[in-house]
Amino acid sequence: RAGFVAILGRPNVGKSTLLNRVLREKIAIVSPRPQTTRTRILGVWNGPGAQLAFFDTPGLHRAEGPLNRRMVEVGLSTLSEVDVALLLVEAGTGPEGRVEVGEATRWIIEEVKRSGKPAVLGISKIDRAPKEAILPVIAAYRELHAWTEVVPFSALRDENVDDLLRTLARLV
Ligand code: GDP
Ligand code: MG
Repeated sequence: RAGFVAILGRPNVGKSTLLNRVLREKIAIVSPRPQTTRTRILGVWNGPGAQLAFFDTPGLHRAEGPLNRRMVEVGLSTLSEVDVALLLVEAGTGPEGRVEVGEATRWIIEEVKRSGKPAVLGISKIDRAPKEAILPVIAAYRELHAWTEVVPFSALRDENVDDLLRTLARLV
């Protein structure tokens, strides 16, 4: 199997770190500062019986100012070209409680819906989150979209990244 995957999500959720983990090299710039990835980066993963081409996009968010607008265009045009959308959201860091879905992420979800493509919700940075904090996040996002799959993972610790890759490979 072979296909294209867009890694979407607001700045700083860990998109570039995931791509670097998958490719085992530092292809995308990782930074605690948002918006380090200004153009999209293509990386190809060759797995057992599957090849996935990943686009790491600049954080897809609503346009404000010319540079942002350009970045949003890159994100949207990428979505139109891929087989599967992978939206990353961060695992909660606090104890169980209300989960706030930011406006930027809601907007991305609307675009994912509009695309009609299979969409995987990746819950990133689970190494920082207590287990009880993950379920409410999943519940909150399931209310917003009928995700094809939901996969919690940590790119930093390499937890469940294999599962994420297998899931994506099934969908392309
Ligand atoms: P992007 O803007 O979505 O591409 O996010 P980056 O990949 O640049 O990561 C933003 C910040 O989150 C960096 O400081 C990363 O080191 C950190 N980060 C990314 N993935 C993980 C993870 O799995 N666990 C933890 N604890 N931090 C992470
Ligand atoms: Mg990035």
